[in-house]
Amino acid sequence: MRKKFVAGNWKMNTTPEQGVELVKNILRSIGHSCASANYIVCPPFTHLSEIVKVARGTAIRIGAQNCAEESKGAYTGEVSAEMIAATGASYVILGHSERRQYYGETSDGLNKKMRQTYSNGLVPIYCVGETLEERESGKLWDVVKAQVEEVVFHLSEVEFRHLIVAYEPVWAIGTGKVATAAQAQEMHAFIRKVLTAKFGDLAAKTPILYGGSVKPENAAEIFAMEDVDGGLVGGASLNAADFLAIGDGFRED
Ligand code: PEP
Repeated sequence: MRKKFVAGNWKMNTTPEQGVELVKNILRSIGHSCASANYIVCPPFTHLSEIVKVARGTAIRIGAQNCAEESKGAYTGEVSAEMIAATGASYVILGHSERRQYYGETSDGLNKKMRQTYSNGLVPIYCVGETLEERESGKLWDVVKAQVEEVVFHLSEVEFRHLIVAYEPVWAIGTGKVATAAQAQEMHAFIRKVLTAKFGDLAAKTPILYGGSVKPENAAEIFAMEDVDGGLVGGASLNAADFLAIGDGFRED
């Protein structure tokens, strides 16, 4: 049985005050939720310390959306994994398609970020996914395989045991176009096969989350797929009721 996760990626949304209020709203209702998922919220850096305090001792864990490639020094504007860990956060999203697309993130840089993440005891949520053009030209398998191999294959077995993968088809992020449950399952099974080629049976335990326009209305169908272990949720994670309703996609009744 793999661990199930519902992780919210707030992106560049909310002020610190609004973020605290959002977490408090989630916490007010989480007691009524029978979901068997683990909840993670990933606010902007500026909110981390305060939100960690609000969530301490609750069922919600906190993550950042990125970290620096280097450990410290003259890197104006960067935030190190050590700084993130010091806030009490436990996860870091790495390789989100918006960062690959707008900030030119490559596998080389992501390998450095992975090193920083593990050295500071954080768990990476490593994102992979193809563009619409890559899907339509049939390159999707090669693209996702390369994104996995070029980064995840550099991990030790110990590190690999503490990895979450997120499959996020770029064409489904923030577009309202969601992959069908069958498309998600097909790619998740493929990713697991690629991971198994390197890490053997350990890959059976790796949580692989689906991301891309997940909503309360479509979560249960996607989460029912064998190799889908939860969701990385953007837009819908900014609403407490929707975020929890997505977690209810795992309700065991
Ligand atoms: C995301 O950015 O990780 C994401 C999945 O966004 P959305 O749910 O809004 O498509």
